[in-house]
Amino acid sequence: MARVSVLGGVGEIGGNKILVEDKDVRIMLDFGMSITQRARFFSDPYVSPRRPESLLSLGIIPRVEGVYSWDVGEKKVDAIFLSHAHLDHYGYLSMVHRDVPVYCGETTERLMAAITDTKRSSFETDYRGLGYKTFRTGATVKIGSIAVRPVHVDHSIPGAYGLMVETSTGSFVYTGDLRAHGRASHLTQDFARAAAESDANLLLTEATNMVGGGVSSEEEVARKLETVIRDAKGLVMASFSGMDTDRLTSFHMAAEGTDRKLAISMRQAYLISVLEGDGHIEGLPRLGKGNVVIYRRNKKRYEKWEEEVSAKADVITSEDLSATPKRYVVATSLSDMEGMVGVKATSGSVYIQSTSEPYNEEMELDMQRLIEWLDFYGMPLYHIHVSGHIMPQQLRGLVSGIGAKRVAPIHTEHPELFLKYAMEKPDSGFLPVRNEWIDV
Ligand SMILES: [Zn+2]
Repeated sequence: MARVSVLGGVGEIGGNKILVEDKDVRIMLDFGMSITQRARFFSDPYVSPRRPESLLSLGIIPRVEGVYSWDVGEKKVDAIFLSHAHLDHYGYLSMVHRDVPVYCGETTERLMAAITDTKRSSFETDYRGLGYKTFRTGATVKIGSIAVRPVHVDHSIPGAYGLMVETSTGSFVYTGDLRAHGRASHLTQDFARAAAESDANLLLTEATNMVGGGVSSEEEVARKLETVIRDAKGLVMASFSGMDTDRLTSFHMAAEGTDRKLAISMRQAYLISVLEGDGHIEGLPRLGKGNVVIYRRNKKRYEKWEEEVSAKADVITSEDLSATPKRYVVATSLSDMEGMVGVKATSGSVYIQSTSEPYNEEMELDMQRLIEWLDFYGMPLYHIHVSGHIMPQQLRGLVSGIGAKRVAPIHTEHPELFLKYAMEKPDSGFLPVRNEWIDV
């Protein structure tokens, strides 16, 4: 009997790691970092793990024979399938044996290359030398008796996939992370249709937003951004994920509509430069064209990739922001706030937080720190955001449409709530247990 074990992502948001065994074939779906598990013991930069052994002993990474770089035993993991390039799904690929092929979408491979070039190298974040093999929607990837069929989904990062997995005893569906209210929600509909046709015995579904319901869309975010930016009388600072190209596009449109330049970080610019050759991402701003410039912090030495990307667009500094604050929307984050001290305070400046609300203690503390900085600068805070994850009512529709015989919620802090709410046939839902086998 083919079987599945969820080794991460049970009762928590992210850290997904799913082991699939069929006869003598073993594959994994995602190999994410559990930010929650890790934060129980560690807090960067001073209390960081120093050795993989401690992560194993603490249960932060699972004991899976044949998957790690230091593992030279006989048993092998034949392949890892990566649903998308978010840390909670790819994070611990850093420790994976470089002989294990990593299957992912073409866009994800590009994003992983950018992450590899720009991340500081600790043993936890070193992704050099991984062997990627790419797929697109419609492909069937055969690994022995297992066939994996990826279909694109809409999420807060381009190149995200849900996976349909056929084994010798039946098939199951893994949603990865998805939503139905982004600019590319038709991708999720394609996935829902394909999953419904797959006659799945089992559905492993994300259920992130069980207490985070809302009704909005990326278009609405773009409109709200434009409203706030238009009324701003000084500088607009904004924090948003560089990997969320939907959000980047929203900011780009809002800046364009208000005759401002969008000053992005060097890392965001590098991502754009890497994605430019992709050709599948609509509306992405072009470096060196239109109103996109790069905000470069003053520092003594720049990395090679920073020098490279700086040559591709106009570069501005804090002096430029001081001289003409009304001309810019500048992408910042908490870590940039000190660098803004040099920027001359102008009354009427605003800060737009365009990321999710804090959902853990660490993030609450960072939020408090951000508010201290905003008090210091005299900038009010606007929160304009829409989630990367599907809303409860749409999720219920998706689950019932797929019609799998059994359904298990992962990537959620509220699995019981999901089961009570989302199952048309109550008996078909169950709580997965970490590290325990589920027959397919
Ligand atoms: Zn996730």
